[in-house]
Amino acid sequence: MRETGFNLNDPELLRTAAFIDGSWVPADDGASYLVTDPACGRTLAGVANCGANETLRAIDAASAALLGWRNTSAKERANSLRRWFELINASCEDLARLLTAEQGKPLAEARGEITYGASYIEWFAEESKRIYGDTIQPGSNNQRLIVLKEPVGVVACITPWNFPNAMLTRKIAPALAAGCTVVCKPAEATPLSAFALAELAQRAGIPRGVINMVTGDPAKIGGVLTRHAQVRKLSFTGSTRVGKQLLADCAGTVKRTSMELGGNAPFVVFEDADIDAAVAGALASKFRNAGQTCVCANRFLVQDSIYERFTSALVAAVNAMTLGRGDEAGVDIGPMINADAADKVIGLINHARTLGARVAAGGRRSKLGSTFVEPTVLTEVTSEMRVCREEIFGPVAPLQRFTTEGDAIALANDTRAGLAAYVYTRDMGRIWRVSDAMEYGIVGVNEGTISNEMAPFGGIKESGHGREGSRYGMDDYLEIKYLCMGGIES
Ligand code: NAP
Repeated sequence: MRETGFNLNDPELLRTAAFIDGSWVPADDGASYLVTDPACGRTLAGVANCGANETLRAIDAASAALLGWRNTSAKERANSLRRWFELINASCEDLARLLTAEQGKPLAEARGEITYGASYIEWFAEESKRIYGDTIQPGSNNQRLIVLKEPVGVVACITPWNFPNAMLTRKIAPALAAGCTVVCKPAEATPLSAFALAELAQRAGIPRGVINMVTGDPAKIGGVLTRHAQVRKLSFTGSTRVGKQLLADCAGTVKRTSMELGGNAPFVVFEDADIDAAVAGALASKFRNAGQTCVCANRFLVQDSIYERFTSALVAAVNAMTLGRGDEAGVDIGPMINADAADKVIGLINHARTLGARVAAGGRRSKLGSTFVEPTVLTEVTSEMRVCREEIFGPVAPLQRFTTEGDAIALANDTRAGLAAYVYTRDMGRIWRVSDAMEYGIVGVNEGTISNEMAPFGGIKESGHGREGSRYGMDDYLEIKYLCMGGIES
């Protein structure tokens, strides 16, 4: 089924079949499922509903392509990735429209995601030429000890719907740069952005079988990807619940894994903070993508003496935000991904209210539709409320009070998650003390926008392991091989 309602400059970017061994193929039984617009529920496209057999063929294709791809020179791989990067940038507007249609975020944010996603391809194209080994001082002159870096092999990439473009490029780019081939399973809700990336990769001349994509039943596809011996690594971004299951499934074949899982980010505002900067950072960190990001501020911890001042500035800024369809001009916050997600967020707000929280802004589902939740500020929130203990994944800012620096640190670390944390203070000593104490993979200091291709993104504790982006991001796709060469002395 083909849809034409996207107004694409390049209609060929709308792909609905699976991408296996360089061909667009329907599911074996011809089955498809519907992709819908979260803003209104309209049908966007029917997409191949694949299962185990298509996944097996995709793994075969990736295995067959592996030798050829890993034997290309780093420079050739860099050139292919660079061409892909340029084609993505040239199609930015079409890719953003597809993304907004299936995911809901405002078009300006969607454009930002395409540029951000492409930046990882550019970065790893460059990094591919800088994969270095080592020589080690031997214990005897009769030996030479050498460390080589090799691609891991076939990599499975499973990604969520909240960044349908960038979560894929953050995996595919380093994998390909290292010489790996991939089988990707994008989220069911947002396959169109993924397929458009594959279409552009093919046009960029990336050989068949190097990138494969299957969409459909997550358990069937995931079951094959995690248990197949030819798949040497799983790179997963998604919920902690599913991540734990996939880790267990990967144990049988002792796969390497990278896990980018859920967060519960504290956003700590000390009394010496620049309040305007803290509010600007709060808006960026909390309300981007309607609060559906893993690094979203989940709990605002605000020092007693400035609690009222920070609250009223944040409430004014939140009340000035415009909720609406992502493809409408002037919209700051789009719909949530589906009505269930909105129901969950409304449930968290109501739970907090019953335990004594006060609604200072928003607090309700919008009249715009079942997926729209008003940007919300809750005050007088306490730690036992679910809104603090769970990942909200919605446009709700709960504000808690604290008195001392020690209290703030204890509250901030009181979670099994460990992805991102934010700290606002102008005291240099405090910046270091608090940053050192934060049990998180990423700490934003006086900064609400923390993610870029140059920096290592990832969590600790139950937020996962491995890093995406930066020079460290390449290590996740490389094996170390050590050569011990003897018989040097004659
Ligand atoms: P999810 O339910 O865990 O889904 C993520 C991916 O896993 C989707 O492709 C999903 O497929 C797939 N999946 C689900 N069950 C599976 C199974 N049994 N076997 C194999 N694959 C399976 O997460 P989500 O709701 O899409 O995404 C939101 C979560 O992702 C949040 O917790 C967020 O914090 C996290 N996240 C983390 C990062 C990070 O970098 N740390 C970045 C973004 C998001 P279907 O779509 O078909 O269900």
